[in-house]
Amino acid sequence: MRILLVEDEDRIAAFMESGLDAEGHAVDRVATASEALGMSAAHDYDLILLDLVLPDGSGRDVLHTIRARDAEVPIIVVTALGEIDDKVDLLDLGADDYLVKPVAFAELAARVRAAARHGQQSSRVLQTEDLSLDIRTRIATHGDESVDLPSREFALLEYLMRHPGQVLTRQQILDTVWGFGFESASNIVDVYVGYLRRKLDRRGEPSVIETVRGAGYRVRP
Ligand code: CA
Repeated sequence: MRILLVEDEDRIAAFMESGLDAEGHAVDRVATASEALGMSAAHDYDLILLDLVLPDGSGRDVLHTIRARDAEVPIIVVTALGEIDDKVDLLDLGADDYLVKPVAFAELAARVRAAARHGQQSSRVLQTEDLSLDIRTRIATHGDESVDLPSREFALLEYLMRHPGQVLTRQQILDTVWGFGFESASNIVDVYVGYLRRKLDRRGEPSVIETVRGAGYRVRP
């Protein structure tokens, strides 16, 4: 999933980011209310983790503004004990859930998985031509070949298959699968496309992932 993490305490933010990254999520990390509003307007996130006390404003106002723009994106408030006097009020403002600091990573990971399940209920299996991808089991099937994909390869194939026929640039893929700010000169996208092709392509047939010269990659609709 692509996650926006809004947290101004460096130590906590770094801890959460590295844990989520290890689980295969693409995390964009910001430390202020204004950055949170800017990033959430510019990108489509699958989940927003929001600290309530930010240096330039209140997380409540950020929550209210994001929710007014987007009724769907799951938002989990992360707060220190004592910062919330009325949990009901927070849920009324549009938060889906909240976590109290110090956050245990196991608990955070469980809430993130719950948000992922909620978001993906509608489309468990993505399908294009004779390639299918099961979101729940992370198994890709091409013809009668089934492969269990590691998280980053899975995220890359999922992103391509959610946009069948559409050419996605390396930068779009980097931003979505690896997270905003990843080194754009890196050839990591090509390397991972190579991994997927080795696992999924069949001899003598066109690749499941088409290279569009000078533009990027796509899967056929
Ligand atoms: Ca804070």
